[in-house]
Amino acid sequence: MTSIKSEILIDANILRKNIKVIKNKLQKKSKFMAVIKSDAYGHNISRTVEDIDDLVDGYGVVRIEEALEIRKKSNKKVLLMQGIYSKEEYILSKNQKLDLVIHNKNQFNLVKDEENHEMFWYKVNTGMNRLGFEISDFIKIYEKYLKEKKFTLMSHLASSNDKESSSNESQFKLFNDLSNQLNKNILKSIANTGCIMNFPEFSLDWVRCGIGIYGGYLNDDQLKTAMTLRSPIINIRSIKKGDKVGYNGRAVAKNDMKIASVYLGYADGLPVTIKDGTSVMVRDQIAKVFGRVSMDLTTIDVTQISNCRIGDWCEFFSPKLPISNISKSNDLISYYFMTNIKSRVKKVYKSID
Ligand SMILES: *Cc1c(COP(=O)(O)O)cnc(C)c1O
Repeated sequence: MTSIKSEILIDANILRKNIKVIKNKLQKKSKFMAVIKSDAYGHNISRTVEDIDDLVDGYGVVRIEEALEIRKKSNKKVLLMQGIYSKEEYILSKNQKLDLVIHNKNQFNLVKDEENHEMFWYKVNTGMNRLGFEISDFIKIYEKYLKEKKFTLMSHLASSNDKESSSNESQFKLFNDLSNQLNKNILKSIANTGCIMNFPEFSLDWVRCGIGIYGGYLNDDQLKTAMTLRSPIINIRSIKKGDKVGYNGRAVAKNDMKIASVYLGYADGLPVTIKDGTSVMVRDQIAKVFGRVSMDLTTIDVTQISNCRIGDWCEFFSPKLPISNISKSNDLISYYFMTNIKSRVKKVYKSID
C-alpha cells in the first residue's frame, strides 16, 4: 500500500471562528441557520454538526438522508430547503420533527390540511425564477388557508454577493411588500451569506448561512478558509527553455525551469480547466500551475522555490491561501471546489497551526 496520499484537512476551530464573525453582523433577533447541504459543502455533515452545534440555532439541508444524519446528533431545528416530494417523505419528516420548505402547489397539497403551520417555510419567487410561489399565487393561498397561521416566509437572492446589483433591491422590495400584507405573527428569512455581509439589515428572523462558515465567501478578510487541499510532490525535473509540459504541450518554458509533479489530478476533483499560472503553495511560497491538469497529476513550476524536494506538500488552498484565490483566477466558485473533491482524497480533521 502506498504511503503517499492527497489530503483534505478540516479545521473545526476555523469553522467556529467564522460563525462567530458572521453572528456579530446579525440583528439581535436573528437566528443562525447553518446551511450544511452537500455534506456540509464537502466538510462532512456529521463531524460539522458535532463541531458547531453549540453555536447555531438550526441547520439547512436539501436531502432527507442528510436531515436524518443530523437528527442522530442534534435536536435543533432542521430545515429541508427543497421540501418533500411524497406523502411518505412527509410522514417521515413529521416524525423526525423537520421543518419544510413549501415551494409549489404540489407540496402545499401534501400539507394544507395541517392545523399548525409553524414548521413550514413558504418560499416565494422574488426574481430567482427557480423555486417558489409567484407572489400573486401565494396571496391566494394565504387568503384561503393561512390567514391566521404562524409560518415562515422565505425567498432567496440571485446576486447577494454583488452589493451594487439592482436585483437585490427589487427582490427586497417584493419581499417586503408581500410580508407587509401578511399577519404580524409570521417569521421572515431571505439572507444567505452574501446578504448577511452586504445587507445585514435583512438578516430578519432567520439567516441561512452556508459558504461563509467554510470561509469561501469572496469579499471578507476575517473569514478564513477552513479546508486545506494538499498533495505531495512525487517528482521534480529540470527542463530547458522551449520544452513543453503535459498534455498537448500547453505550457511552454520561456526559460530553463524546475517542474514538480504533484499527486493530484482531475480524478481527485481538481478541475481539468485550471489555468497555467494559478497559485499554489509549497514550503509557504507561491508556485504556479504549469501545464494541463492530468487525471492523477498536476505539474507546477517550482523554479523559484528554495529547497523544494520530493515529498513536499503542495497546497491548492488553505487558511493561508484562500480558496477564493483559486476560484477567482479560474472563473469558478469556491462552492464548486469544496463540493467537487472525490472520496479518494483522505479527510483529516485537525488544525494545522
Ligand atoms: C445553499 C442555500 C443557502 C446558503 O447560501 P450561501 O451562499 O452558501 O450562504 C441559503 N438558502 C438556500 C435556499 C440555499 O439553497
